[in-house]
Amino acid sequence: MELNLSTLAKHFSDEAAAWELVEKMRWPNGPVCPHCGDVGRAYFLKPRNGTRTTTTGRVTYRRLWKCAACRKKFSVLVGTIFERSQVPLSKWLLALYLMSASKNGVAANELRRILGVTQPTAWFMAHRLREAMCASSFETMRGTIVADETWIGGNPARMNHKTRERWEKSQRGSSNTAKTPVLSLINAATGEVRSKIVTDIAGPTLRKAIAEQVDIAGSVLWTDEGRGYRHFGKEFIAHNTVNHSQDEYVDYTTGASTNKAENFFAQLARSLDGTFHHVSKEHLPRYLDEFDFRFSTRKMSDTARMERIIDQAEGRRLTYRRVTAA
Ligand SMILES: [Zn+2]
Repeated sequence: MELNLSTLAKHFSDEAAAWELVEKMRWPNGPVCPHCGDVGRAYFLKPRNGTRTTTTGRVTYRRLWKCAACRKKFSVLVGTIFERSQVPLSKWLLALYLMSASKNGVAANELRRILGVTQPTAWFMAHRLREAMCASSFETMRGTIVADETWIGGNPARMNHKTRERWEKSQRGSSNTAKTPVLSLINAATGEVRSKIVTDIAGPTLRKAIAEQVDIAGSVLWTDEGRGYRHFGKEFIAHNTVNHSQDEYVDYTTGASTNKAENFFAQLARSLDGTFHHVSKEHLPRYLDEFDFRFSTRKMSDTARMERIIDQAEGRRLTYRRVTAA
């Protein structure tokens, strides 16, 4: 089933339909018992009077299953970021759709308005969904890896591309800069991207950050001519560079290109300027995870992306003692 705004609309207002849809997405082969792992043998527990109520007497649409193997009860939300939330699942589903279908991400304030929830609830939901977008794979990257860095922060929002570039250059190497350097690594074949905050862009720092993610001896490195990469470029099978100072983004002799990084940074800058006017350094890692996810899955359908987020939601429930605005 291909999900889009029109096929999903019903589930955003019908709580029972929302539950059934999440079950379909999370359990394509039948209910999976979270207690013993048994697949497809659980039976549905029908509420006695047609409706199920909580201990406080409120009507709930929670769908309960009982495992035929271990006899334990469970719902589709066990182990997900949606578990134990007071927010109706239909609202979660709408938030999930908005976050996964939008190109630039959704600001919490927009979620608040569209979902009709309070500001703290909107923040909480946005952060939980973002947490679920956090890369599920911590496998080492291997292959042709594009590495590039960008600077986030300051107030480049009103600058055009050339001014911004000049300004960014002027910030480099200055110790009292308000900008945060971010290193992004992109697998040229799969399009998977991983971004991390680095303390600076000196050779040893870049090498350490790359070595944590990449099988250096088994990979090819593509970068611009930044001095930092020269120190350790020879540890790779090959290190091909592109000359940015001559506005070159592809080297036609080696085929090396940093275009993917340029695209990613352009998208990131647009989102940070347009959707999230300011992101504190504290929250930046989670925003980066979100953009990494968005870019890595940009060729997927909205349905596949939503399913992936629900899958990744498992075991990632986080509780914020206090939800603060980024
Ligand atoms: Zn079981």
